[in-house]
Amino acid sequence: MTLQTDVAIIGSGYSAVALALNLVDLLPPTAKVSLVGKAAGQGRGIAYATKAECHLLNVPAGRMSLFADRPNHFLAWLAGQGYPWSADDFVPRRIYGTYVRHCLDETMKRTGNRAALTLVDAEALGAEALQDGGLVFTLSDGERLSARVSALCTGAGTRRLPLPEAAIPAAARPFVVEDPWADAWWERLPADADVLFVGTGLTTIDQLLLLKRRGFRGTMHALSRHGLLPQPHLAHRADPVETVLVPGGGEVSAMLAALRRQAEGATDWRAVMDGLRPVTQDLWKGWTAAQRSRFLRHAASFWNVHRHRMAPAVAEEIEALRRSGQLVIHRGRLDALRLADGRLAAVLRDGTPLAAHLVVNCTGLDRCTVAASPLLTSLADRGLLQPDPHGLGIRVDDAAAVRAGEGVGRTRLYALGPLTAGHSWEITAVPDIRVQARAVAASINAEVVAG
Ligand SMILES: Cc1cc2nc3c(=O)[nH]c(=O)nc-3n(C[C@H](O)[C@H](O)[C@H](O)COP(=O)(O)OP(=O)(O)OC[C@H]3O[C@@H](n4cnc5c(N)ncnc54)[C@H](O)[C@@H]3O)c2cc1C
Repeated sequence: MTLQTDVAIIGSGYSAVALALNLVDLLPPTAKVSLVGKAAGQGRGIAYATKAECHLLNVPAGRMSLFADRPNHFLAWLAGQGYPWSADDFVPRRIYGTYVRHCLDETMKRTGNRAALTLVDAEALGAEALQDGGLVFTLSDGERLSARVSALCTGAGTRRLPLPEAAIPAAARPFVVEDPWADAWWERLPADADVLFVGTGLTTIDQLLLLKRRGFRGTMHALSRHGLLPQPHLAHRADPVETVLVPGGGEVSAMLAALRRQAEGATDWRAVMDGLRPVTQDLWKGWTAAQRSRFLRHAASFWNVHRHRMAPAVAEEIEALRRSGQLVIHRGRLDALRLADGRLAAVLRDGTPLAAHLVVNCTGLDRCTVAASPLLTSLADRGLLQPDPHGLGIRVDDAAAVRAGEGVGRTRLYALGPLTAGHSWEITAVPDIRVQARAVAASINAEVVAG
C-alpha cells in the first residue's frame, strides 16, 4: 500500500524532531507530516538513547533548548520536572532524550489548528522521484510512503575501522567491535583484559566511563593519529569574546595563527573558541575546496578537541584514569590486526604491537558517509543526491536543499544535521541544528503552501 503525506521526515533523532515540531507550528492545519524511524530511537537518536547516568551532555543545559527562539525551554522543562540542574550544569544525556521525547509526545497530543504529525515505525530503505518533484519511499515494513516534500535526518551513521578488509584476518573479526553503540560488547570483555579503543574523541570517553562503572580492572588503551583527548569545559563558562576572524579573510594557516594569538591574549582560550560560533559556518563556506582539505588534514583534530569539550566532572574522571595508569593514550596510525596464539594485537604503522582482547572502533559518529546507508545509496544511484567531495555527508545549498546530480530535475528534498557537514562544517550540536531546523521548516512550509 502507498501512504500519502505532505512532508516525510526520514530519521527520528534530534534533527528530525526539531524539524517536525517547527513544521507542526508553521504548516496549515490540513497538512500531514510523517516522521519515519524505528520506534526505539524516536526522539532520542544515537546521542540520547544511552541509559548510563555517567554519559553527560557536553553542552551546558542553558544552551540545549530544542527551539532557537525559546532559549530557556529546556531549563523550564527541567524545573517543571523537579530536576535541580541550572544553566551551567551538564545534565545526563538520558534526561535530555526524555525531554525531546516529551516535547514530541506533547505535540502529538495537541490538536486544534495545528498540522497533524504521525510516527511511522519503520526504516526507509530506498526512494524514487515522482514527476512533480515529490518522492516515494520504500519502507522496511513493506509499505510505501509518497511525500510532496521530504527531509533527510538520518544522522551520521557509524564509520568503519580505518583499515582495509585485508588488514583484518577473518579469525580476528569476532574480537573487533565496529559499532560500540550496537551491542553490549563489554559483556565479552574479561574484567582484567586489555582493550583498545581506536579514536580518542567523545565516543571513546563514553566507553571508558562505562567500563569504569562496570568495575573493569584491565588496561584501557586509546589510539589516535595525534593522541589528543577532548579538552574540558570550565566549571563556570567565560563569556565569549568577539572573534578576530572574518569569513573569506584568507588562508587557513594564517587564520589559525591569528586565532592562536587571540587565545594567548585572552583570560581563557575557551572564550575565544566560543566567540567563533556565530561565524564558524561562514568561515568554512568562505574557503575553497583545497582550503577545506587543508583544514581537514592539518587542523580538524585540533579543532575538534577544543570545540567539542568534556564536562568538567568527566574530564576529572578521565584524568584520574590516566594518572592511575589504567588508561594509556597512544599516538599513531593503525596498520593491521594480527592474531597470534589466540591473542589479538593491533599493529601500528611504526611496527609497534598493542595487545588487546577487543578492539573497539570509536573513530567517530560526527561525519557521515553515503555508503553506510541503503537509503542514501539508493538516492545517490538515481542521481537524486551527491556525496560531499570531502566525505562530510551530502551536498546541499544554503537553504539545505539537496543538490541532485547533473541533468536530474530538482526534487523537493532537504537534509539536516550532521548529514550537511560538508556545507556548514559545524552542524552536529543542538545549538547549530535547531537554527537549521527552524529555517528548513520555513522553506518546507513555503513549498507546501505554494502547492
Ligand atoms: C554520543 C553523542 C553525544 C552527543 N552529545 C551532544 C551534546 O551533549 N550536546 C549537543 O549539542 N550535541 C551532542 N551530540 C551531537 C548531536 O546532538 C547529534 O549529532 C544530533 O543528535 C544529531 O541528530 P540527528 O537526528 O541528525 O542524528 P541521529 O541522532 O544519529 O539520529 C538519526 C536517527 O535516524 C535513524 N535513521 C537513519 N537512517 C534511517 C532510515 N533510512 N530510515 C529511518 N530512520 C533512519 C537512526 O536510526 C537514528 O535513530 C552528541 C552526539 C553523539 C553521537
